[in-house]
Amino acid sequence: ARDLVRRYGMRRGLLGRSVDITAVAGVSLTLERGRTLGLVGESGCGKSTTGRMVLGLETPDAGSVEFEGRIMPPPGTAAWRAMRARMQMVFQDPLGALDRRMNVAAQIAEPLEIHGIGDAAARAARVEALLRNVGLRPDQALRYPHELSGGQRQRVVMARALATEPALLVCDEPISALDVSIQAQVMNLLVELQAEHGMAVLFISHDLRAVRQVSERVAVMYLGTIVEEGTPDALLHDAQHPYTRALVSAIPHPGRGGNRIVLQGDPPNPAARPSGCPFHPRCPVAVARCSTEAPSLRDHPDGRRVACHLAEPAAIAKAA
Ligand code: SF4
Ligand code: MG
Repeated sequence: ARDLVRRYGMRRGLLGRSVDITAVAGVSLTLERGRTLGLVGESGCGKSTTGRMVLGLETPDAGSVEFEGRIMPPPGTAAWRAMRARMQMVFQDPLGALDRRMNVAAQIAEPLEIHGIGDAAARAARVEALLRNVGLRPDQALRYPHELSGGQRQRVVMARALATEPALLVCDEPISALDVSIQAQVMNLLVELQAEHGMAVLFISHDLRAVRQVSERVAVMYLGTIVEEGTPDALLHDAQHPYTRALVSAIPHPGRGGNRIVLQGDPPNPAARPSGCPFHPRCPVAVARCSTEAPSLRDHPDGRRVACHLAEPAAIAKAA
C-alpha cells in the first residue's frame, strides 16, 4: 500500500454542516508473502479503513495498492475480481459475516461457486477438508450459524476465507467479539492455518498483546498515520515513538519496570486533526516544532520506521 488517503464528509446532526474526516492520512505498508503484519491502534485510528482499502472494498482518495506485482485495478472490473479472489477477509462479527439461511457447507462452498472453482464433487471434498482444517466436525456441515457458538462461527468464516486459497488474508479484530476463553484457540488456529496455507496476513487489532503473538512486524497507527513500525520485540522493549511507549506501558508485565504512561488531553478525533505532529496535543515530550511540522516516517538502521522529530536517526546519533 502506497500513500493511502481516505476522507469522508460527515454531517453533524440533522441540519448540521458537513465536517471533513480524514480517516487515513497517508499510509504506506509492505507485507511480504507468507508473513504477518500487525496493524494496531485505538478505535478510529484508521486501521479498518486501511484494511478495507487494501482489499479494494473502499477506494482510496489518493495512493495505490499493489498486489503480487500489479496495481489494483478499479473495483468491479474482471481484472479486479481475479485479484480479489486471491484476497479474503475475516471480520470481528462472524454472525454478521455469515448468511443465516445457509448451512455451514453451503457457506464454505459459496466462494468456490462464485469463482467457478471445481465441480460439485470437488467442491464437496474441499468443504470437508476445510472443515477438518479449522477443527469442525463433518456433521457440523449441516448446521446453521445460529446453531453454532461464536468460536465455531469464526471457524466457519475462516474455512470460507481459505476456500479459494488466498494469498492474503485480512483479519480485522477477529477475536474481539469472542469469549476470552476461546480467543486463544482461534489465534492458535490462525497461526496453524497460516503455516499450512502460507498466506500473508494483515492482522488488525486494538490489542497490542494479540498482535504481537502472531506478527513478524507491527505497525502502530495514530489518527490516520503510522507512527512506528518494527518487530514486536523492538516495539515492546525499545519503543521509539512516545505513543508506542504509552501503548506498551499499558500492557501489564511483571518483569518490566517503569510506570504506566497515562496520556493527557482529548482522545484523537479524525474530524479535528491537529497541525504538525498529529500526536502533539497529547505528547508528553513534545517540543516547539511539533505543533507546526509533521514528522515523516523515517527508516532507522535497525529496520524500524518511526515518525517523530525526537526519534529521527540524526537526532538519536547526536544524542548518543
Ligand atoms: Fe511527540 Fe513531537 Fe515526536 Fe510528535 S514529533 S511524537 S509531538 S515529540
Ligand atoms: Mg475497526
